[in-house]
Amino acid sequence: MQDAYTKDFDAEIKEIIDGRFIVLDRTFFYPNSGGQPNDTGEMTDGYDVFKVINVVKKEGKILHELDKIGIKGDKVHCTIDWDRRYAHMRMHTAMHIVCEVFNRDSGAMITGNQIGIEKSRIDLNLEIIDREKIDACVRHANGIIAKGFETRNFIVSREEADKNPRLTKLAMGLPPQIKDVRIVEIGDFDSQADGGTHVRNTSEIGKIELVSVDNKGKNNRRISFSLSKLQNYDCC
Ligand SMILES: [Zn+2]
Repeated sequence: MQDAYTKDFDAEIKEIIDGRFIVLDRTFFYPNSGGQPNDTGEMTDGYDVFKVINVVKKEGKILHELDKIGIKGDKVHCTIDWDRRYAHMRMHTAMHIVCEVFNRDSGAMITGNQIGIEKSRIDLNLEIIDREKIDACVRHANGIIAKGFETRNFIVSREEADKNPRLTKLAMGLPPQIKDVRIVEIGDFDSQADGGTHVRNTSEIGKIELVSVDNKGKNNRRISFSLSKLQNYDCC
């Protein structure tokens, strides 16, 4: 939520469920949620190394699922599989830009999305959309990326979100019980209520390439895209 660039960290074990599901006092692992897949990585107790094969949110806790039982003691060191995570970060920020561009340029509403390492997809509620228009949207999105916008995230209260014209449309779509709203902002181009991990600067994304456009029912077009590899990426 606050720091997407920490790759390894120390933590204390708070709870072990069924021998393999670990709850920590703090974590930098991202749990599967909001269309962004979970992180994977490793956890060591100083004696043995365990693979973190899944991370999920359950009843307010973040559970780190290990590949085997037997973790000992109460202090662990954790390492996040950075290639996987960083691919998700680049894709997630790209996804926000693509969604906003399609919404502005075609009026489409986004009805679903899924982030992946190789490709990601969005579903648009459009009956007809021609290929030229889609290509124009992709060019627009790449133009936004090329501007090198800084991204930032911050928490605002629900009342603040309701008062700010830029955030009001976001706040209205949220369940009433949500009191604090985390906002992810991409320069002055886009703000969204969001819980995901993002790159610091859009220049880290690379270039969006359209993979396919599929019809998924009468009012649903599915657009898949990939990102060109970054030249020698060494972001931090
Ligand atoms: Zn998001």
